[in-house]
Amino acid sequence: MSEKLVPVVCPYCGVGCRLYIRSVDGYPVGIEYAKDIPGIANELGKLCPKGNAVIEYLLAKDRLKKPLKAKEHGKFVEISWSEAIREVAERLKEYAKDDPNQLMFFGSARTFNEPNYLIQKLARMLGTNNVDHCARLCHSSTVTGLKAVFGAGAMTNTYKDIEEADVIFIIGHNYAETHPVGFRYVLKAKERGAKIIVADPRFTRTAWFADIFLQNYPGTDIALLNGLIHVIIKEKLYDEKFVQERCVGFEDVVAVVEKFTPEFVEEVTGVPAELIVEAARTFATAGKGVITWAMGLTQHTHGHDNVRLAATLSAICGYQGREGCGVSPMRGQNNVQGACDLGVLPNVFPGYQAVTDPEKRKFFEEFWGVELSGEVGLTVIEATHAIEKGKVKAYYVMGENPAISDANMNHVLKALEKLEFMVVQDIVPTPTMEFADIVLPAAAMLENEGSLTNTERRVQWSFQAAKPPGEARPDWWIISEIGRAIGFSGNGAKGFEYAGPEDILREINACTPQYRGITPERLKANLAGIHWPCPSEDHPGTRVLYKDRFLTPDGKAHLAAVDYRGPAEMPDEEYPFLLTTVRYVGQYHTLTMTGRSRALVKRWPEPLAEIHPEDAKKFGIKTGDWIKIETRRGVYPVRAKVTRTVKKGVIAVPWHWGANVLTNDVLDPVSKIPETKACACRIAKISEEEARELMKAVPKIIPEFEVVKG
Ligand code: SF4
Repeated sequence: MSEKLVPVVCPYCGVGCRLYIRSVDGYPVGIEYAKDIPGIANELGKLCPKGNAVIEYLLAKDRLKKPLKAKEHGKFVEISWSEAIREVAERLKEYAKDDPNQLMFFGSARTFNEPNYLIQKLARMLGTNNVDHCARLCHSSTVTGLKAVFGAGAMTNTYKDIEEADVIFIIGHNYAETHPVGFRYVLKAKERGAKIIVADPRFTRTAWFADIFLQNYPGTDIALLNGLIHVIIKEKLYDEKFVQERCVGFEDVVAVVEKFTPEFVEEVTGVPAELIVEAARTFATAGKGVITWAMGLTQHTHGHDNVRLAATLSAICGYQGREGCGVSPMRGQNNVQGACDLGVLPNVFPGYQAVTDPEKRKFFEEFWGVELSGEVGLTVIEATHAIEKGKVKAYYVMGENPAISDANMNHVLKALEKLEFMVVQDIVPTPTMEFADIVLPAAAMLENEGSLTNTERRVQWSFQAAKPPGEARPDWWIISEIGRAIGFSGNGAKGFEYAGPEDILREINACTPQYRGITPERLKANLAGIHWPCPSEDHPGTRVLYKDRFLTPDGKAHLAAVDYRGPAEMPDEEYPFLLTTVRYVGQYHTLTMTGRSRALVKRWPEPLAEIHPEDAKKFGIKTGDWIKIETRRGVYPVRAKVTRTVKKGVIAVPWHWGANVLTNDVLDPVSKIPETKACACRIAKISEEEARELMKAVPKIIPEFEVVKG
């Protein structure tokens, strides 16, 4: 019997906690805290409920173990790997020959850097830039917004800087629940005397720790941020030297924020004027400040502008390029940053090198040995529309669940029905799989090895801790087999011949400037990882970005002057409430993993819609009653929780269990993120029978599939 402790990275959120899996003969039997690894993101090895329950989903009874082929909708027959690879390769090749833009590829923030690099390479070598991943739905506004102001779309600092800050402004981010271990750095700063400002439409667990709590209406962030900037400029609290030397566009900001007096902002946001003044003074005068956000800021039709304003607020206070300062967008999944870095986006090659830039394209054409398209591809939501119009006919989904994760779910389900060919590569059955023609069983992250990049640009190696079940195979293996079967058989980067993920990371080192010095050997020897940019093998990595210049062409921060606009859909007579979506600490994304943990499901068994007591009284609703929430896109039955955490007129519902049936897929024009954080809705009290009936229209989160004889 061989027993070992294997160092891995938690497969859940972007904090990137380390832990050990106790593995006996390749079978995971328990976890140990990584108390002995200095410098890791989770100091002393601490984990949140999800991290503690990490083994359970690996052992799920319904793990996919054999490749499957659909016989009819939702019914599959088992096939061999060679048959599956051959069929996928042939079909992809056929579509590519006809018109490569008929293809769409969906990468995954829940798998390693290496397969993500490979899926975008495969798409691009087939002739299309139609490749995207779930960052589109969570942090695409962060990427575009920060790029517009600072020249790159990543966290500018690290957890250490959060710990060392004197003020931390947390906006649209229930930090304590979504990134619990990362939140410890906020608490450490508070213990040191740092002030905490929280802006959120809900009084969250994070808000409990706030010195100043700004409870704004969903979707009013532009007004709130402009109000803070207004006060800071009026009272001359900004960093004049920093603005003069390192920023452009200040005069435009001054002109636009003129009308955002605290009184005007109170009318729009519902936040008392005196609190806006207090927050502005506290933030600007602290000395060292950090702004952190998540989906409450990004998932809006003005998400790009929200982020630009957060970056502008940070810059005018001189909170850039210094330790203890910066902006910290918190990534939801453990490899969102890596999937973005490695070009799983329709507009950039690895390292954010634009597909429209002829020089960058020439580099990759020579590197991969094929002609490449310079046409920006489709985003995830655009692809749904293109499927409906018959333009996209084949969809390759690796480790994602668009049937549940995308806004306006009913629309997505109808579109998926129209696909001619769909491949789903995953570890367990998902509602998306119902539409698949071929299902490829993947090894879970802990059954495989490779590199991952956490929210603070820290690249870490996670080792193989368990054997995959049945015939499940690593993601990198599956894609490279398909690449070779298509005929991409050249040497080195020109083909798909890899002995393992180390080979692929070396190829990434050669084409991704930020990862140049982050070799597999260095990562394996240094379990705390390396923060990119790391331009050479002797470079230690970079904690704080922009010490001397920003990455914009002129090296300056381009401040944003943005006038107010609210959500695309506001309450009216027909739909009088404002709906927002939230997350629970013990559940994750669309429940494909946490939904298979008995411990987590026991503690967080179902969604509860939060409703203010005065609103509840009007409808005779008590906590535990069934209600239906209805929007212009769908109906969702859920139990109510009567609580003052939300303002009057606001309903908050967790999205893990399928609430995207309600959300609005209207897009931010720049980042193309859908507005899942705010739309109009109405509610009604219903009986349990009616709830059961309505539930039938919502896809089963953990579906059962029939495997029939061939
Ligand atoms: S905070 Fe995130 S990375 Fe850390 S244990 Fe929890 S889910 Fe895993």
